[in-house]
Amino acid sequence: MISTILTTTDGSKHAGRALALAADLANKYKAKLIIMHVMGQGDVPEELAHMAEVEHVTEPAPANEPVPRAPIPRPGSRSDANQKIHAFIGDRLVDDAVDAAKDKGVRQVQRIVEDGDPAGRILEVAKKHGVDMIVMGSRGLGNLKGLLLGSVSQKVNHLCTCTCVCVK
Ligand code: ATP
Ligand code: MG
Repeated sequence: MISTILTTTDGSKHAGRALALAADLANKYKAKLIIMHVMGQGDVPEELAHMAEVEHVTEPAPANEPVPRAPIPRPGSRSDANQKIHAFIGDRLVDDAVDAAKDKGVRQVQRIVEDGDPAGRILEVAKKHGVDMIVMGSRGLGNLKGLLLGSVSQKVNHLCTCTCVCVK
């Protein structure tokens, strides 16, 4: 009996295919679908930071702000702005995925956006929510060619106690 399915997205094509399969399976089994993203960390590219200012996701940084020496978030600091951008991207990714799942007819959809180590967080959510099946991409946004599995799909597949499907 499959009553809860977890699909995880990093915005990659593989994750998009995983979402499509997860939505099909959720319909078939009348299961709840959890859609999850774990936010990125660290600096975002200059262009993205600029776009975030234009879109009012963040305030423009003071012209003479020093580069932070320690990765301690301070209100109004560059790392604070990075975090806001990662959260904004994560929300958009998950909102789009939720809309796509609902368009496919999935009735019960839950969204989760967290931060931390992606594989660790995915495993925690799978356990906490009693997930019966994880459907994720075999690869993601990483650019190391030739690998069958990325580090996140490999770790989750290895350590989860439920069925894990890695979509190619
Ligand atoms: P690597 O990150 O090791 O360089 P990769 O990016 O090609 O390699 P993974 O990161 O393992 O491969 O991605 C495989 C799948 O794991 C993705 O298709 C997605 O389903 C899931 N995934 C990866 N990162 C995240 C994340 N931050 N949040 C949610 N799901 C993720
Ligand atoms: Mg990756």
